[in-house]
Amino acid sequence: MTRLADAATRSAELFQRAQMATPGGVNSPVRAFSAVGGDPRFIASAKGCRLTDVDGNEYVDLVCSWGPMILGHAHPAVVEAVQRAAVGGLSFGAPTEAEIELAEEIIDRVDPVQRVRLVNSGTEATMSAIRLARGFTERSKIIKFSGCYHGHVDALLADAGSGVATLGLPTSPGVTGAAAHDTIVLPYNDLKAVAKAFEEFGHEIAAVITEAAAGNMGAIAPHDGFNAGLRELTRRHGALLIIDEVMTGFRVSPSGWYGLEGVGGDLYTFGKVMSGGLPAAAFGGRADVMERLAPTGPVYQAGTLSGNPVAVAAGLATLRNADADVYRTLDANSERLAGLLTDALTAAGVAHRVQLAGNLLSVFFTDQTDPVVDYAGVKATETWRFAPFFHALLERGVYPPPSAFEAWFVSAALDEDAFSRIADALPAAATAAAQAGENS
Ligand SMILES: *Cc1c(COP(=O)(O)O)cnc(C)c1O
Repeated sequence: MTRLADAATRSAELFQRAQMATPGGVNSPVRAFSAVGGDPRFIASAKGCRLTDVDGNEYVDLVCSWGPMILGHAHPAVVEAVQRAAVGGLSFGAPTEAEIELAEEIIDRVDPVQRVRLVNSGTEATMSAIRLARGFTERSKIIKFSGCYHGHVDALLADAGSGVATLGLPTSPGVTGAAAHDTIVLPYNDLKAVAKAFEEFGHEIAAVITEAAAGNMGAIAPHDGFNAGLRELTRRHGALLIIDEVMTGFRVSPSGWYGLEGVGGDLYTFGKVMSGGLPAAAFGGRADVMERLAPTGPVYQAGTLSGNPVAVAAGLATLRNADADVYRTLDANSERLAGLLTDALTAAGVAHRVQLAGNLLSVFFTDQTDPVVDYAGVKATETWRFAPFFHALLERGVYPPPSAFEAWFVSAALDEDAFSRIADALPAAATAAAQAGENS
């Protein structure tokens, strides 16, 4: 769906040019708008809850850089911390006090985390956590869940994408059978399937990795007892539980999903919010496991820019400014947005479910009244209604995630004007969703 009106825009020009320099014109695939069509908006600047594109259009941002910007864009305290750090030197390749402070902030917030190692992306965090779990247990197999995303780690891209337990079928060319061979992919929220896999392979399974609450197939909360069941099964079989809080961490509560549920993992991965919007991430967990990392242990892991002083300053300033008030506001904003979505879609007669996992939110177009609980359920929804819904919002100055399979992210910076703009844009978007045709 390319609209003629776009042809004259600066974003469209830049998208053409970008495609001659970068595959698909983007540095991360979802930004290309492939799932919704049209030209991605090239962003010139952002402040608070608003993005401004290169054509001067303003959008209420419901993506927040895919999570990090809980305080809103260019928050004065974060910008000031970054500027101060930058003036003091951009990178040393030697330890700094601020790295300890960021690690301590994470340890203070998330009880089961006793040691932290800083890295540069969520992908690196999960990759390192998997290696560490294998090194610690001296086992090779890992269990992951269909529809859960843990970054583009070879072994974790293995995902049969069906509701059936499947042994390591790589879903991306370039991921070898060998890299995926030890990955067991199971349906999310299906504890019985996990128990069965442990019965069969128990002594070979190094770890189960799960999103604390699924956010990468839309927002899907774990069933009551699902994470606790994973805790119990891994413990019983001598495997580690890796809880991926890259998306939920420091967003859904001061201590992430752990703060809502209290189920402790052996290892955790973090990113997004704790980066403050700069490239930083972390993994951490039990001291006896983490101490197996080099230099105290034999499991190798390193990074030239890990613990970068500017990124650490952004992360620390973000966490220090994310107080109880910010978390109350995030929850309230998410509920308010959910209410607006429900009202508009109901008024337009569009069968749907607005699902929350903490303050993560998703819109599923479906007439099913039960919650969507796994990837098979997500794929069975009327995702073809999403593109017209998305574009109607975008044209009216509201920027939702450009894919039906993604969570929506609120910031604490959403103001009354922003909510008015959302409320004004939604009726037309709901009508567009209602009129969508499956094959158009
Ligand atoms: C975003 C995300 C990752 C990957 O993080 P990157 O910084 O994009 O590499 C991993 N796990 C989850 C749950 C995520 O949401």
